[in-house]
Amino acid sequence: MSSPTTKPDVQLPKPNGDFYQVAEVLNDSERAILQKVRTFMESKVAPVINQYWLEDSFPFDLVPGFRDLQVAGLGYQGYGCAGGSTLLAGFVAMEIARVDCSFATFFGVHSGLAMGSIFLCGSEEQKQKWLPPMARLEKIGSFGLTEPLVGSGASGGLLTTAQREGDTWILNGQKKWIGNATWGDVTIIWARDVADNQVKGFIVENKTAGFKAEKIEHKMALRVVQNALITLENCRVPEENRLQLDTSFRDTARVLRMTRAFVAWEAVGCAMGAYEHALAYAQTREQFGKPIAKFQLIQDLLVKMLGNITASLCIRCFPVKDLPTHWPKPGPSVLRGNAERLYRAGRHSLQRSRQPRHPARRLFHPLQ
Ligand SMILES: Cc1cc2nc3c(=O)[nH]c(=O)nc-3n(C[C@H](O)[C@H](O)[C@H](O)COP(=O)(O)OP(=O)(O)OC[C@H]3O[C@@H](n4cnc5c(N)ncnc54)[C@H](O)[C@@H]3O)c2cc1C
Repeated sequence: MSSPTTKPDVQLPKPNGDFYQVAEVLNDSERAILQKVRTFMESKVAPVINQYWLEDSFPFDLVPGFRDLQVAGLGYQGYGCAGGSTLLAGFVAMEIARVDCSFATFFGVHSGLAMGSIFLCGSEEQKQKWLPPMARLEKIGSFGLTEPLVGSGASGGLLTTAQREGDTWILNGQKKWIGNATWGDVTIIWARDVADNQVKGFIVENKTAGFKAEKIEHKMALRVVQNALITLENCRVPEENRLQLDTSFRDTARVLRMTRAFVAWEAVGCAMGAYEHALAYAQTREQFGKPIAKFQLIQDLLVKMLGNITASLCIRCFPVKDLPTHWPKPGPSVLRGNAERLYRAGRHSLQRSRQPRHPARRLFHPLQ
């Protein structure tokens, strides 16, 4: 009996970065939310986002549709927030970044940093006033910590000052790289109280006199999210807008600690998107008469990407409370680990996609 020389054509499954179906750890209703987000990102964002990336602009038209997903404030209970588990919130951050990490940053700054500051450091009245409209995306939030001269060293050296005058605080200084601030409604400004030298947080409405936000142009990465240079010049904020449960940078750090985990999830999402784009390309791009995915060197790169994604996903899903007590607590190291794996995935995918308009280039600019 002669053996066949060609294998029959088989229908390949759709590229899937969650190869081991780790998302099965979520329950049915959580997976339905994730699917809703995926459908929106794939049908509304993916088809148009490359153009926005090229133009350095934000797709404002997509905000109403995104609002309908009702995912702002995931992980926070009450105050009109989406609620749910932090695990679901992480998966949603990953799912958004899988299609576009700038869009994920817009969401992370609003829902994580800005809403999170109020949720963790605001009084009951402040939460009731600000969180419901922010959860409905009627008010868009920003988070102003970084300054032109102060980045990593924010804990000890903020130059922006807050001076109390009766029931008013007067803010002076500059904040740089502040996501959403060119078009948002409210910014959490972190400033050093000149009286006790401690960092305090203020809910500042962007239309307040003395608050100016200018767009930072020509970014090389995360080009869709709009970042601002904010100048505060005798910007007067009422005492009722000072985050009442924030007394020092320790409280600011609580917000950063919470949101850092979501950035790690976003890194997994970016890696997933790169892997799926690279696999789809390798399955269709033919050289020497067959798809390049049939060559073992290409398979090796794809398998490394998938291995890194799976490792990152497992680290994210392994509940911290179940970690052996002698293990170090996952903190910046987890973000760094995921970011390193993302960088490797990005490098592998970019080897195969040199065109400037290829989605892998947007997802994985080396500077991201
Ligand atoms: C696209 C984008 C969006 C952003 N959005 C926001 C936002 O919404 N709100 C906000 O407040 N900020 C935002 N940032 C600012 C961001 O948080 C800062 O860039 C970050 O804190 C680093 O600060 P820096 O850029 O001043 O770098 P620097 O602190 O000057 O660091 C420069 C380099 O030195 C290294 N370095 C610094 N200190 C040490 C050390 N002790 N040991 C070893 N290496 C060190 C750093 O790792 C880095 O490689 C954004 C930045 C970007 C690029």
